[in-house]
Amino acid sequence: MGLMEQQLQDYAWWRSAFNKEKKSQSQSPCKEERGASNGCLGFDLADILEQGRGPGLASSFVEAPEPEEKEQQLSVLCEERRFILMRDNKTLLVAVPVEGVGFDIFLPKEEGRQGPAGEGAAFLLRCSPKLDSWLLTSARCEQCEARGSRQCGTRELCRMSHYTERVGEGNAFCMDVELPELSEDGRSRVVCSVCSGREEVAGCVLSTRRPRWNPRQKTLTLDFQGRCSLASAKNFQLEAEGDAGRVVLLFGKVEKDRFVLDHSHPLGTVQAFAAALSASHWK
Ligand SMILES: [Zn+2]
Repeated sequence: MGLMEQQLQDYAWWRSAFNKEKKSQSQSPCKEERGASNGCLGFDLADILEQGRGPGLASSFVEAPEPEEKEQQLSVLCEERRFILMRDNKTLLVAVPVEGVGFDIFLPKEEGRQGPAGEGAAFLLRCSPKLDSWLLTSARCEQCEARGSRQCGTRELCRMSHYTERVGEGNAFCMDVELPELSEDGRSRVVCSVCSGREEVAGCVLSTRRPRWNPRQKTLTLDFQGRCSLASAKNFQLEAEGDAGRVVLLFGKVEKDRFVLDHSHPLGTVQAFAAALSASHWK
């Protein structure tokens, strides 16, 4: 995307936020008190930013690191049934399980304002009743917003399918992850219910690296390159189809309720987090 186009998109975002805020003000009964002019809008926009609803915040979790970039090393903390994604000591995203439906994923400042399932969440991770098929969507589609569409679609970010495979005398949990195709500029194509036509999430497939059966110890084993210190059924790695030597995601338990999550191109942060969350029922 050219710089100009990017700027137009950003501008479009502000315009739509501005209009929404203006609309909600004119509906508010205390209109007079607020001065009825647009003088307050600067503060309202500052509020929007303060609440983490500004542009680029949610979308920065969607884009994958550059192919040549070093892997991103994050950690996942399980705390009171919530899953917290962190970089160093900074909270990036918070996932809250929704019984029988999946997870709502919030930007840190939006968590706690959740009402019914999905409300206020930046991303939704939804599963089939058997927990074997998962879909991650972004609540907002920047492309729709940039085009000023009246109806804003939701953007599909990845699909995961789970199954088990017999390895030696053990059963290995396996997962395939499908991502949208990459466009020429290396960004992920937008797959949206409203603005993207017939594109599907089927461009790029990742699959779990299969463990080996150790007949002496009678266990499944997989090398985690020293990144993971505790055995867990939830530990897994993903590799790209056609590039099986390269680990694209590594999720491994390091202490009670704490996991490392390393990811690199073509997996964005929220897609990597979603893959890990989808495996949280593996026991
Ligand atoms: Zn769209």
